[in-house]
Amino acid sequence: MTFALHGIPVSKGIAIGKAVLISRAALEVSHYLVEPGKEDAEAQKLLDAFDQVRQELNQLRQGLPKDAPQEMAAFLDVHGMILADPALAEKPMMLIRSQRMNAAWALTTELNDLLEQFSEIEDPYLKERANDIRQVAERVIKALNAQKKDSLDSADIMSPGELGVDSIIVAHDIAPHDMLRFKESAFTGFVTDLGGKTSHTAIVARSMEIPAVVGVRHASEMIRHGDWLVLDGEQGVVVVAPDEKLLEEYRKLQTQAIKEARKLQQLKHAKTETADRVEIELFANIELPEDAVQAVKLGAVGVGLFRSEFLFMDRKQALPDEEHQFLEYRRVVDLMHGLPVNIRTIDVGADKALGAGGNDVSQTGTSPLGLRAIRWSLTEPEIFLTQLRAILRASAYGQARIMIPMLAHAKEIDETFRLIEKAKQQLHQRGQAFNPNIQVGAMIEIPAAALVLPLFINRFDFLSIGTNDLIQYTLAIDRADHAVAHLYDPLHPAILHLLANIIEQAKRANVPIAVCGEMAGDPSLTRLLLALGLTDFSMHFSQLLLVKREILKANVGLLKARVPRVLKAYEPEDQAKALERLMA
Ligand code: PEP
Ligand code: MG
Repeated sequence: MTFALHGIPVSKGIAIGKAVLISRAALEVSHYLVEPGKEDAEAQKLLDAFDQVRQELNQLRQGLPKDAPQEMAAFLDVHGMILADPALAEKPMMLIRSQRMNAAWALTTELNDLLEQFSEIEDPYLKERANDIRQVAERVIKALNAQKKDSLDSADIMSPGELGVDSIIVAHDIAPHDMLRFKESAFTGFVTDLGGKTSHTAIVARSMEIPAVVGVRHASEMIRHGDWLVLDGEQGVVVVAPDEKLLEEYRKLQTQAIKEARKLQQLKHAKTETADRVEIELFANIELPEDAVQAVKLGAVGVGLFRSEFLFMDRKQALPDEEHQFLEYRRVVDLMHGLPVNIRTIDVGADKALGAGGNDVSQTGTSPLGLRAIRWSLTEPEIFLTQLRAILRASAYGQARIMIPMLAHAKEIDETFRLIEKAKQQLHQRGQAFNPNIQVGAMIEIPAAALVLPLFINRFDFLSIGTNDLIQYTLAIDRADHAVAHLYDPLHPAILHLLANIIEQAKRANVPIAVCGEMAGDPSLTRLLLALGLTDFSMHFSQLLLVKREILKANVGLLKARVPRVLKAYEPEDQAKALERLMA
């Protein structure tokens, strides 16, 4: 039976494919298709991993001390029996051979099926066996990962269409660092129960240019593994079991979208200026160093925001050391060929936990009002100094700049600059090169900062408005919580007043001001931001040409004249009329 589910569209495009339900355990593994002809080798990897776990269990069993509780031996015996049952490996082997799934993916698919069957069993003893099966499977997955970092090798990865049938991930929730695992995978769409438009998961989905709908509430319960889905990332609709007529319509829309994207490419080399010749600068937001390649190709004049925490978030053990970080930052700087690169210092906490699956490395808060971003960095001065030294060293090779997130207090600013000076001294003592005049910028993303802007204007070389957080904190809405997603409103008069004031004050003081939140990459808001006087936009590269198209058509002189009426409108109807005149 066909039915539709509605959620929040976060990454545009249309995906048509079969649902792949993903559990937490499954998120921990890579998902890709092995090359034709390599199925047997992949199946052998699975068998080897089973063997390895068998040996491990035997060793554990033999090494049990005499006085070990009897349950220990019984527990290991049960695990040994589960492992010995050929049924556990049978279906994954089939999935590897028939669908070319990588071994870990095939095993987690089987694990999910088994766990689902067990969830329907009433008997508490048998129910408990589900946990044993999960633990055994997880041991095998661990062994597979150890074989060769899950053997994810770009030569082995197939493009989405090559399976014959595209797959769409359906999950209760996906953490931002888990999302990154799918960057090179075989999936063509994402549906999650939780999430909001500017949650970091949504931001990463957009950066992957894969259609995604989040906040669909019960999607993972209502959609079954293998269901056909149409995912409309523009409207936020997920159609389950679509009929032939509907499929045909969506296929047409898909073809049309591809044609439009091609047409847009022609704008790549056009100068970025408005119809009345106001020059505009378009920067890119990136999560990983290699994103810089696309940014340059699409004409970005620099990296306005490098979310450096994505280098840290996927790690269970140690954070990357100075050398590792330096090499990554330098890679971006090199790829940008002398253009500026704003390296935003680590912003973990809230919806971005540090360490895969939890805060294994150090405690960060999960509340957006908690220990996040610079607040966390200042409580971990050694980690912060390591990052600062790495950025400073990269500044010897190009225009690396330091950008600080979530500042609100003068004493945080003082402490930040004190540590920057200390990092410089440390490098000086070591005799290592850096740019002593490196530019330091602040993100304006807490209303308090916006309200005391002169403090920031006086102390920083440049400013960048993080509208995602500015909206979250001004309207008191957790940006990752779908229950309040409908209240997340970039056009709220309070936001427009804040933006107008920040831009105006910074321009008057001649301090470069950009917007690097999602508002900058939303082409429906380009005219509004131009009207408010913004000339520097930073967005994910996939949005660059769409925003550029709006800029080329706009007349800033005319738009600016319409701003006072917008800012005077407090009643929704008045505001809607004033905005319509401005944005139409
Ligand atoms: C913002 O808050 O707008 C921003 C760009 O930073 P992030 O989305 O990473 O919090
Ligand atoms: Mg932010």
